[in-house]
Amino acid sequence: MYGKIKEHLQEELKSIKDAGLYKEERIIVSPQGAEIKIESGDTVINFCANNYLGLSNHPALIQAAREGMASHGFGMSSVRFICGTQDIHKTLERKISEFFGTDDTILYAACFDANGGVFEPILTKEDAIISDSLNHASIIDGVRLCKAQRYRYQNADMEDLEEKLKEAQEQRFRIIVTDGVFSMDGNVAPMDKIIELAEKYDALVMVDEAHSAGVVGETGRGVTELFDIRGKVDIITGTLGKAFGGAIGGFTTGRKEIIDLLRQRSRPYLFSNSIPPAVVNAGIRMFDMMAETHELQEKLQRNTKYFMDKMKDAGFEIKPTESAIIAVMLYDAPLSQKFAAKLLDEGIYVIGFYYPVVPKGQARIRVQISAAHDTKHLDKCVDAFKKIGKELKVLK
Ligand SMILES: *Cc1c(COP(=O)(O)O)cnc(C)c1O
Repeated sequence: MYGKIKEHLQEELKSIKDAGLYKEERIIVSPQGAEIKIESGDTVINFCANNYLGLSNHPALIQAAREGMASHGFGMSSVRFICGTQDIHKTLERKISEFFGTDDTILYAACFDANGGVFEPILTKEDAIISDSLNHASIIDGVRLCKAQRYRYQNADMEDLEEKLKEAQEQRFRIIVTDGVFSMDGNVAPMDKIIELAEKYDALVMVDEAHSAGVVGETGRGVTELFDIRGKVDIITGTLGKAFGGAIGGFTTGRKEIIDLLRQRSRPYLFSNSIPPAVVNAGIRMFDMMAETHELQEKLQRNTKYFMDKMKDAGFEIKPTESAIIAVMLYDAPLSQKFAAKLLDEGIYVIGFYYPVVPKGQARIRVQISAAHDTKHLDKCVDAFKKIGKELKVLK
């Protein structure tokens, strides 16, 4: 009987709309890239994709996807352990291990699944998970699916982490879990201190590199490179859906025994389909590119610095960032929405974020820089920010 719940759902939807939190989706009619065409027919410069290296529409990856489909077919119609593993799946796992300098890697349909399936197979109620308060929703869900004791420390707050580690000393095993880059500010987790505390209080360390792999560190190896701690992080999760081509797919990479056990027991791996050959083959090509050259990382880092410097010179307040995420602080929620709408009229596509996505009174516009952007894109963006900033009296 749909009647009663239908009314209830309509009320729920209305309350979301009344709170101004209803998400409308903007329709893009071109490939993802620095410039995109939207349904209205306008072309805008995109500053809100996770397309950090500009690979979402890269000819070499499209070619590799075509070749993968030609040689290995369209779909697998199977999970990995029944008949869903091809030679290319094993090759991609090896390439990911080489990239991060880890023992072994297991692929998932998405990083959401990697995080959802990582804790429950290795930890029980005797153990403790100590998680950063700003960790991604998929980590939170993964923790929920596991019986281990839960501890939460304030974002990147090492005193608080130490407190929680002390509290968790009674448990059999402990694991500290953090995002590498936090997506709302662009700050990195203080991995050097986390490793120190992990050694002092006998804990494992897990990092979700979704926004950091490909992006931070001189050659884009992520936070383990940035902090020079390769080999000290026990579990890394990541996505092929952001910097690494932007299609789909996730992975967990790390210690041999952990990955082995995940293959035996991780539910999103055991009970969900294999990644399709086109995506796998493009992933292999992508990691080969990463091994051959760091040009894209260099361009991304140049672009990010260029944009930040110009925005600061213009008088905007930017959150400290070590990634390609730049939070332009406006503090006021309606202002952030108005500002973003006006930027779109200027051909700049960005998103304004406000509570509850960010803390109350911390509204902002998040700009994501890409190696696909050229100086003319960045200049146009800064000029539009300046124009609207003056119009809305954010700038004097
Ligand atoms: C985007 C993101 C994910 C999810 O990745 P998908 O592969 O899209 O499921 C997980 N963790 C973090 C930190 C992310 O930013």
